[in-house]
Amino acid sequence: MMKPAVVLLSGGLDSATCLALARSQGFDCYCLSFDYGQRHNAELAAADRVVKALGAAEHRVINFGLAQFGGSALTDTNIAVPTGGVMPGIPVTYVPARNTIMLSLALAWAEVLGSRDIFVGVNAVDYSGYPDCRPEYIAAFETMANLATRAGVEGAKLSIHAPLIALSKAEIIRTGMQLGVDYSLTVSCYQADTQGHACGQCDSCRLRAEGFAAAGVPDPTPYAAA
Ligand code: ZN
Repeated sequence: MMKPAVVLLSGGLDSATCLALARSQGFDCYCLSFDYGQRHNAELAAADRVVKALGAAEHRVINFGLAQFGGSALTDTNIAVPTGGVMPGIPVTYVPARNTIMLSLALAWAEVLGSRDIFVGVNAVDYSGYPDCRPEYIAAFETMANLATRAGVEGAKLSIHAPLIALSKAEIIRTGMQLGVDYSLTVSCYQADTQGHACGQCDSCRLRAEGFAAAGVPDPTPYAAA
């Protein structure tokens, strides 16, 4: 019997690699994606492609309207996505409390499934600006999860797995390629068009392209015509 795990899946490069890793560790993966009011839905189409390519027990999409609050370039059309290179500090592409909300919903599903394992593809190395991508945040959430749930109180320890957290983008890409991830299916761009073509200008596009270059593999990303 394979153990069930809940895997957060955005449709980007990191979460696709995270799903491949969870499957390689023998988990039966229940993938969870979110329509949270992000600028484009190309990433949800990508999540669907990734699930079909890698395989999963189930894939659900949960809707929550963070665009009602805005406050991020990803959820508020009045805030432009930066294209001038990575700057110091927390970028405006940070979405307030997003990972906490997503992990909380994953926790609810995990408890219902009888799963003790949640996988999230956060990364602290190339993206040190996001407070909810840090190892101490993941550790704190895991502590909270064990305090907050019946499963935790009754002695079944829940683990939050963040296997990419200390890897460089190039290391993530090499890991995924060894596991057969087709990165042409994934969308990382903060402002991809409706067909999923990447802009090539935003921080996410830059980090992704640098990752393929550093890994020494051709970049399979479909870019929008300039
Ligand atoms: Zn982009």
